[in-house]
Amino acid sequence: MENLSLPAIATKVPTEAAAYEFLEQLRWGDEPVCPHCCVIGGHYFLKPRAGARKTRTGAATQRRLWKCKDCRKQFSVLVGTIFHRTKVPVRTWLLVIADMMAAKNGISAREVERKYALTPRTAWFVCHRIREAMTTREFATLMSGAVEADEAYIGGNPKNRHRTAEEKAATKSGRGTDKTIVLSLLSRESGEVRSRVIPNVTGATLHAVMEREIDMANAALHTDSFPVYKWVAPEFSDHQAVDHKAGEYVRGDATTNRVEGYFSQLKRSIDGTFHAVSTDHLDRYLAEFDFRYSTRKMTDSQRMATLIERVGGRRLTYRESSSEPSSASLVA
Ligand SMILES: [Zn+2]
Repeated sequence: MENLSLPAIATKVPTEAAAYEFLEQLRWGDEPVCPHCCVIGGHYFLKPRAGARKTRTGAATQRRLWKCKDCRKQFSVLVGTIFHRTKVPVRTWLLVIADMMAAKNGISAREVERKYALTPRTAWFVCHRIREAMTTREFATLMSGAVEADEAYIGGNPKNRHRTAEEKAATKSGRGTDKTIVLSLLSRESGEVRSRVIPNVTGATLHAVMEREIDMANAALHTDSFPVYKWVAPEFSDHQAVDHKAGEYVRGDATTNRVEGYFSQLKRSIDGTFHAVSTDHLDRYLAEFDFRYSTRKMTDSQRMATLIERVGGRRLTYRESSSEPSSASLVA
């Protein structure tokens, strides 16, 4: 596989025009694909014939333009991607993505701002758009087999987790009310994690999330002894609960150790790299951590290729059948 690490990309893509060509190769291979009508190949290369051309405002641009032989519309490789209609050079996007893929705990917008000489606003925007591409799309496959589920309370005192309704009512105006609840589902089969911010830990809420992500009839649920999981358990083929209060963490293959490991990493990263993550944006940070966890066995290059497949979202699915098995379950 092609080396797509940060230093390799920096070398491969010395100019903006090279960045376009690089992205074209990654997204299209040898035949351009019209984003308007999905016809593959045979399109006309329009610009730039020689050097940079001028935009309407008179600024020089190296944007590579194609014209569809079928629908006659113009397009560039950016149409339908997270890069489209932004003023950030494609080269910068690629470098920031490669950087994010290589950083074990992610990188902060502040760091991106400094390293790539962007304004704070642009750096923030770039980071969030990339996280958007990491989000699991609706047609990701349902999880099956052994699935570990657990919740975490972000931004508050961990002692308050698993509170009963009475305790919760008693501390309503006090500590812990600023906490955000995250439900994470970890498939042991695919090694994939999906996390969602949830408003509360009622059975109905858990059920609604699980129903969207898990093929429940063909999945065994693994949880701790938090009673609400019993409420959703009957829909699963099996339910194994370990009783942490009794000091039980593993019983045969019943355990939630993996999903708890995920949470400790998430919390460390939020404390260390991102400091305070606002509740409004937690969803996107979760997407990043899910993506990083789910692709942890890949090399930086494979992870980069997987993300590039995702930047265009749905339009890239024609490639799904030919993509590597290691990334097939993650292609969104
Ligand atoms: Zn077309």
